[in-house]
Amino acid sequence: MKDHIKFILKNSIIFGLISFGFSIIGGLFPSSEHTSVIGNPLVVSGITIEHIVGHIFWGAVIGLGTLSIRYIVLGGSFAILIDADHLLQFLDIELVSRMSHSIPFAIIASMIFFLILRGKDLRLCVVAFGAVLSHIAFDIFLADVAYRTDTEFPLFSPFTLEAVKFQGLDWLGIQIVGVVIVAVMSYLVKRKEIRLKNNLTKT
Ligand SMILES: [Zn+2]
Repeated sequence: MKDHIKFILKNSIIFGLISFGFSIIGGLFPSSEHTSVIGNPLVVSGITIEHIVGHIFWGAVIGLGTLSIRYIVLGGSFAILIDADHLLQFLDIELVSRMSHSIPFAIIASMIFFLILRGKDLRLCVVAFGAVLSHIAFDIFLADVAYRTDTEFPLFSPFTLEAVKFQGLDWLGIQIVGVVIVAVMSYLVKRKEIRLKNNLTKT
């Protein structure tokens, strides 16, 4: 139990820092048409209980394929930490809104976990990737269900800050991709573990 909590806390802090750090990049283009002073997050960002619980739940679903409680909790934790960029809004500087809601961010976060752990925990890498997808999925879902509107993200930031629009059931496809990526990787990791074990018992 204590191990689980340590594992979850440590990796959540790392992910939160990556997310926050990445979002800072969004503050480096004050003259871009894609940046603006977003405003106090408590006022403008619609931070509600449903929003927070939804992100955690969607993220936890991503982790289900691992069949392991620590990755399921981490999925939820990573998913909500993607909104760490809201903290930057307190600075009243020109920012790219939702900077870390991007595929390059998902890849960078996975790669950092890969490097830190020297490739020893591939499930953690894909959970980080999937959590970003689940976050985007829930933002689309919430916009559609609660506000009957589309929503947009700088999906390829920082390479282009152009926002990409999503609507309706787009969230479902994105969520499914996240779930499948994590499930497939978990299956491969498990298979390799079983093979290694079999080889050990043979010799
Ligand atoms: Zn968001």
